[in-house]
Amino acid sequence: MRVLIVEDDPTLADGLNHSLSKVGYAVDCARHGEEADAMLVGQTYDLVILDLGLPKLNGFEVLSRLRRRGSQVPVLILTARDAVQDRVKGLDLGADDYIVKPFELAELEARARALLRRGQFGASAQLSFGQLTLDTAGRRVTLAGQALELSARELAVLEIFMLRAGKVVNKEHILERLCNWDEDIGDNAIEVYVHRLRKKMEPSDIRIRTIRGLGYLLEQIQEPA
Ligand code: CA
Repeated sequence: MRVLIVEDDPTLADGLNHSLSKVGYAVDCARHGEEADAMLVGQTYDLVILDLGLPKLNGFEVLSRLRRRGSQVPVLILTARDAVQDRVKGLDLGADDYIVKPFELAELEARARALLRRGQFGASAQLSFGQLTLDTAGRRVTLAGQALELSARELAVLEIFMLRAGKVVNKEHILERLCNWDEDIGDNAIEVYVHRLRKKMEPSDIRIRTIRGLGYLLEQIQEPA
């Protein structure tokens, strides 16, 4: 899941970045409105966390440009306690939810999860494939009822496969979903995550097959009848 944080307060931006990266999201940060606008034009995100009071281009303008381009990406706005008018204006411009500053990180994470769920899986927080179940809210995976110990990155890769189960996923798609704006992850890293996932999922009815030249395919091994 790729998240863009647009916040000019570096302390808050770093705190949000740290907290969302820890749970396995790929996080980019923009420090002012123009930067955010450029990133939203050039990249695809699953969620935008948007401060309204920003230098260069304010949050309302960033939001209204985003919606005018037809983007449906969920947007969570950050507003000041006494700024009821701002909240109303933000929601009218197409924000999906708001949170009032100062807030607890746990509450922001919960709202972010809810919006990501709405965007990605309808109302369901569970992805299932064969014996594999991924709880997208709790960031937990079970295989045949047993908890699977995965790193945040391994879990993020598995989630990408599960969202496209039965379809070939190419490395570019994985890299795009996984990489931070300023962090390089190579093809080799993807191979390492896939290798570890394969080992951890053995033995089971789930297989990550390499399709030479195309990518990977998460598939269920059918028992012979
Ligand atoms: Ca601000």
